[in-house]
Amino acid sequence: SVQKNVGKISLEQIDSLAVKSYPPCMRQLHKAIRDNHHLRHGGRMQYGLFLKGIGLTLEQALHFWKSEFIRGKVEPDKFDKLYAYNIRHSFGKEGKRTDYTPFSCMKIILSNPPSQGDYHGCPFRHSDLELLKQKLQAYKIPPTGIAQILDLVKGMHYQLACQKYFELTHNIDEVGFSLTHPNQYFNESQKLLN
Ligand code: SF4
Repeated sequence: SVQKNVGKISLEQIDSLAVKSYPPCMRQLHKAIRDNHHLRHGGRMQYGLFLKGIGLTLEQALHFWKSEFIRGKVEPDKFDKLYAYNIRHSFGKEGKRTDYTPFSCMKIILSNPPSQGDYHGCPFRHSDLELLKQKLQAYKIPPTGIAQILDLVKGMHYQLACQKYFELTHNIDEVGFSLTHPNQYFNESQKLLN
């Protein structure tokens, strides 16, 4: 279950986790919220449910989003009115109390493509090749690795491209799993690193 880590992650850890154990889709969302102190709805949904999946409690999630949005000059009252409900909702504490599951790779790749100003989506699917190359360079992927990833992307093998990124960032020859979910990526990374 994606809920098995609940309460094991502290908010102080997440900047370093984002670098070490997040797949690129979540790494880019985390950087966007830290840089801009704001994320549009699609990004809040994709990243918010991922954070729930890595084990943030509702209280931690509210604290995380609220402190960023306040830094982005959203009044605390406005945050409580406009945003807190949706966060509680995604944790199943409001409305129909559906416990929303974090999005799978297929859902991220196939639905709700990002527009200008959005940071959600899958970078392997939704970034143009030049921008993707720049991102991978910024992530210190060596040129041969970038070439391998871009070849997989050109063949529309987005999840295989992501597995290659996993291999290169964890110094392993071959991942022992078939990637279907960003939270699976995170859990496999944590298994290797801890
Ligand atoms: Fe995220 Fe999946 Fe795309 Fe990797 S393949 S970046 S985990 S959506």
